[in-house]
Amino acid sequence: MKIEKRNHTVYPIIVPVNYNLKSINFYLYQSDNTLTLIDAGLNNEECWNALAETLKANEFSLQDIAQIYLTHHHVDHVGLVDRIVSEHPIPVYAHPFSIPRLKRERDFMERRVKFFETLYKEADCGEAGQTQVRYLKNALQKNEKKAMQTDIIPFDQAQLDLEIMEVPGHAPDQVSFFHEETGWLFGGDLLIQHISSNALAEPDFEGRRQYPLLQHMDSMKAADSLQPTTVYSGHGEVIQSTSNLVQKRFQEIEDKADKLANLIAEGLTTAATLAKSYYEKRYDSQFPLVMSEILGHLDYLEAKERIEKEQKSGVWHYHLT
Ligand SMILES: [Zn+2]
Repeated sequence: MKIEKRNHTVYPIIVPVNYNLKSINFYLYQSDNTLTLIDAGLNNEECWNALAETLKANEFSLQDIAQIYLTHHHVDHVGLVDRIVSEHPIPVYAHPFSIPRLKRERDFMERRVKFFETLYKEADCGEAGQTQVRYLKNALQKNEKKAMQTDIIPFDQAQLDLEIMEVPGHAPDQVSFFHEETGWLFGGDLLIQHISSNALAEPDFEGRRQYPLLQHMDSMKAADSLQPTTVYSGHGEVIQSTSNLVQKRFQEIEDKADKLANLIAEGLTTAATLAKSYYEKRYDSQFPLVMSEILGHLDYLEAKERIEKEQKSGVWHYHLT
């Protein structure tokens, strides 16, 4: 499959998966005879073969790819980078914030663990928080080998015919690429048609707390204001219109925030007690995700001035205003 418009062509590489993401998507984008790979799937044979087949079906080879642009650092977007570059050395561009994460820079990774330690303590997470922090500490050493070998070049040194938009929220380093003439937006995980993209708790480079759900909402709004004709998403189907989808996502956030406000009205005061009540068993089985969701929606309620928080013995307690 290919999509052509005014001398620009997109060759989607769609790798179906049997979990909720439906598919891992990455894209070959051709303009002015330059072939760019946008994202690089997972590091597995399915993604490698899908890339090879898409190249072949369109009479390209790996050697025709001139460069790689990454939308964010998540494993399902950067998987094949080292394998491609080891066979065919080409520049790889990403947001400067992606670099310490992809290279697993020790100082940053340690700041990141400290960030979660504090975050979970202040959210009253108890044993579940400590378990997660222990897991992250073990992963520091275990995953050192998984650092990306390829050098990453910050975007500002790239020659792009795509406009780079910072769209933090799902990840602090997330960007989308917009091509004004065609209205194409390579969205990363900013918008996914069939599921809401998670705004994940992550520190900034210095290790400070961010407001990922608020950032995610601003990012969705910014993308929608471009009125893209097509969003090439990191997962699931290609998105043809953003405005209904963004509206739907905003409504979902509002609904979840309302439910949390009700629980706060019933007397639950900490992020962890709210998370256990809202998510029940998923509190333990999907702990980091669940805490990101709860903290994000508490940030939202706070920004709307519907709740306030105060710290008692190192734990944040929330109450309605
Ligand atoms: Zn992602």
